[in-house]
Amino acid sequence: MKELAEILLTPEQIAARVQELGAEITADYQGKELMVIGILKGALPFMADLIRQIKIPLKYDLMAVSSYGASTRTSGAVQILKDIEMELEGRHVLVVEDIIDTGLTLKYLLNNLKARHPSSLKVCTLLDKPSRREVEIRPEYNGFAIPDRFVVGYGLDYAERFRELPMIGVLKPEVYEGK
Ligand code: 5GP
Repeated sequence: MKELAEILLTPEQIAARVQELGAEITADYQGKELMVIGILKGALPFMADLIRQIKIPLKYDLMAVSSYGASTRTSGAVQILKDIEMELEGRHVLVVEDIIDTGLTLKYLLNNLKARHPSSLKVCTLLDKPSRREVEIRPEYNGFAIPDRFVVGYGLDYAERFRELPMIGVLKPEVYEGK
C-alpha cells in the first residue's frame, strides 16, 4: 500500500490474534447465550472475523455512535446514530470495538447499555492505546496494545478511506497534507 509509511500489523498477525480471542471467548461463555454488539463502522471487519472464531451459538447486532468531537467532549454525550433492535435484559453482552483511545466513547456506550439490564457486559477491542486513556476502561479482551499513533486499515479510516485494507498501518504524512 503506497499510502502507508509503516505496517504495524499484517493480515496474518491479525488473523492469529482474532483466533486466540475467539478461543478465549468460546471458553468463557460456555453454556451461555452470547449477544455480540459491533460498533459501526470501524469494528465491522473485526466482528465479522471474530464471530466465526467463536464456537458457541451467538446472536449479533450493530450499533453506530457519533465520534467524540470537541463539542461532545464538553457535553459528555455521544449520540446513538443507530441502535440495536434486540432486547438486552438478561443477556450476556459482548461489545466489539475497533480501538479504544481516550475511552470516552465506550464509557458512554457502556453506561447506556448497562441501563438495559444485561446479565453481563464485557468489551472486546482489537486495538488499545492505553497511554491515551482519560477514563477508567479496561477491556476484558484486547487484541493488541499499540503506541499513540493514528492507524488505518481493517475497518479503521482516515476521512472514510482505507477501511478496506487487510493490514493495519500508519499513513504517510503527505496523505494528511492532501498532496
Ligand atoms: P475514544 O472515545 O476512545 O477516544 O475514541 C474511540 C474512537 O476514536 C474509535 O472508535 C475510532 O473511531 C477513533 N480512533 C481513535 N484512535 C484512532 C486511530 O488511531 N485511527 C483511527 N482510524 N481511528 C481512531
